[in-house]
Amino acid sequence: MSIEALNISKIYGKQKALNKVNFSIQSGEIVGFLGPNGAGKSTMMKILTTYLKQNDGEVKVNGFDTLENPLEVKNSIGYLPEHNPLYLELYVKEYLSFHANIHKISNNRIEEVIKLVGLTPEKNKKINQLSKGYRQRVGFAAALLHDPEVLILDEPTTGLDPNQLAEIRKLIQEIGKTKTILLSTHIMQEVEAMCDRVIIINNGEIVADKNLNEILENQDQIIEVEFDLRIDKELILKIANIKIAQNINENTWQLKFNTKEDMRSKVFDFAQENGLKTLQLQQKNNNLEGLFKNLTN
Ligand code: ADP
Repeated sequence: MSIEALNISKIYGKQKALNKVNFSIQSGEIVGFLGPNGAGKSTMMKILTTYLKQNDGEVKVNGFDTLENPLEVKNSIGYLPEHNPLYLELYVKEYLSFHANIHKISNNRIEEVIKLVGLTPEKNKKINQLSKGYRQRVGFAAALLHDPEVLILDEPTTGLDPNQLAEIRKLIQEIGKTKTILLSTHIMQEVEAMCDRVIIINNGEIVADKNLNEILENQDQIIEVEFDLRIDKELILKIANIKIAQNINENTWQLKFNTKEDMRSKVFDFAQENGLKTLQLQQKNNNLEGLFKNLTN
């Protein structure tokens, strides 16, 4: 087991931030830690990284107790904080070598992590010359230098543009093949795109702990489509397997299907057969979002 949290409670003054939190994460899992602002995500992560001490309960990382063996815990964890503090004036290699010295790691490993996180083309630049996506890669490289078993990522894609976002998501999935990853976020799509499992926390308590497959399997398929003309609901309800059709504005419809078959081509065919042009067609997935709203409202 990579992470085990047993009955964790944390109180700041009178504010109870965590209340008897229990979860465990197996080696090799990518787990999304999802919750609204103030739910207790950062507090839990600070406890995992030994930065804070819990008032009650027990946490083990890679088999080491956070209170009894904080050094071993730190050695088992790579942590990427939300606002990754980079020294912008340093060169990439200088920055990584600064981190490598702290951990007493050889310079060979620097080249290894540079490759691992896809920093090779930018490795001779100063950090302030890098795009946000590449700066984030530098943060990953620093977190991975000591080859930790567990990686803890706090809102790892904040502030990235869509291209950078896709690249960083890919990188996280790649790293997740060999590491255990706990990823805190408030973005549902992030979890859907990358995680095997989601833990939802609200008001300091775990309110859901589920495999993504389980959540996605029980779902309706939702397609949003815009035609060039107005049509009657009766007509659109003729598409096979359709459950609900809702006219969300003018010529745009939200369609729910109860089938696993991808219905986008059927909707497209329907438009053609009825002399309509399809201006937009998008598959949506609101199951995790629905679950999240129900549990955290
Ligand atoms: P999240 O990361 O999910 O936004 P936090 O763990 O930061 O949530 O906060 C959980 C609760 O604890 C919130 O009510 C927050 O206001 C409170 N809290 C967090 N840090 C402190 C602190 N240092 N002192 C007092 N209260 C805090």
